[in-house]
Amino acid sequence: MAKSSTTSDARHDTTSDTGDATTTPKGAKPEKGKKGKKGKHGKKAEKARAKAADERAAAQAKATAKAEKAQRKAEKKAADARTAAAADLIARRDAAIELLRARPGDLLTAVDTAATPGFDGSRADGERALAAIGEQLSGLQERLFAHGRTGGDRSVLLVLQGLDTAGKGGIVRHVLGLVDPQGVALRSFGVPTAEERRHHYLWRVRRALPRGGSIGVFDRSHYEDLLVARVDELVAPEVWQARFDEVNTFEARVAAAGTVIVKVALWVSPDEQYRRLRDRLERPDKHWKYDPSDVDARMKRPAYEVAYQDVVDRTNTETAPWYVVPADNKWYARLAVSALLHRALSDLDLGWPAPAYDVAAELARLDATR
Ligand code: ATP
Repeated sequence: MAKSSTTSDARHDTTSDTGDATTTPKGAKPEKGKKGKKGKHGKKAEKARAKAADERAAAQAKATAKAEKAQRKAEKKAADARTAAAADLIARRDAAIELLRARPGDLLTAVDTAATPGFDGSRADGERALAAIGEQLSGLQERLFAHGRTGGDRSVLLVLQGLDTAGKGGIVRHVLGLVDPQGVALRSFGVPTAEERRHHYLWRVRRALPRGGSIGVFDRSHYEDLLVARVDELVAPEVWQARFDEVNTFEARVAAAGTVIVKVALWVSPDEQYRRLRDRLERPDKHWKYDPSDVDARMKRPAYEVAYQDVVDRTNTETAPWYVVPADNKWYARLAVSALLHRALSDLDLGWPAPAYDVAAELARLDATR
């Protein structure tokens, strides 16, 4: 199809480019006495022009086909490189994840926030690796989604916690953005609304849990009721103290119902947080991200560090473990969370659901409609 249109275009262009001196203009009479000779000459020239145009079109089509072939080859090479990078990454995935797993006695204040545990490449390598792992994430998520569509109850819940500017939003955009948004249930938890305040603090959390087949993402979570509620003294100490056990019981139930819980504490240094806040104030396109209360919260960092340490120490269970992700390098934090999601999804070990109909019978029925 493309070839024939190229040919006719080429003919058309040749005619108009040359001005076609020998062709009789439309509506004009041929010159008397020269009719036979000019007609014969004109036909010959026209034939030659058509032949030349065909040759040019054929050469052009050949060049196009060659360029397309080269492009397909380059694309395949890039896809193969991504697959190899993903395979390499996945081979090292679990070892890297182990380095992030919170362990008893680890101090958040001792975390090297600029480190890239388990990954020794550059930022560009990390971004390539994220793209590579993204293709796999997307395939795994499709299986989860199909599982949910056929009545399955498995799901994944990614809990994102971190101080202001830690990069929660970037994780949502750059990691969850790699998979089909239909299968992602994102919920951000801000200051409780009047209605939410009338209920138990887990009420709004229960309502936001992912259904079978989806990846739930909590941008902040019930942990705010153990963090800001404690630091800002929104409730009495005995109230937040009772919440550690309560949250553990709650998460154990959620996990038992089929949800794989992955909890991430994005850990950013005070200096990097300062730079990010300053950037938000200096750039008009980032002003919307800034909230004056961010500086108030920043001044309370020591209290937040104590509260986060308690959270990580006391709610780090087998069923719902914490991962502390150094977050000064945004690209690394995104790669690390993509690896965590990759493992959570692959551990579900979901195949494609079996159809609830007879494939052969449906094929026959469909073919009969042709
Ligand atoms: P973020 O600060 O997470 O980037 P944002 O600026 O859009 O998000 P919101 O989502 O509107 O802000 O609200 C976040 C704020 O809500 C945080 O300051 C957080 O401490 C507060 N918050 C969340 N949960 C609670 C809670 N249970 N009680 C009190 N404050 C809460």
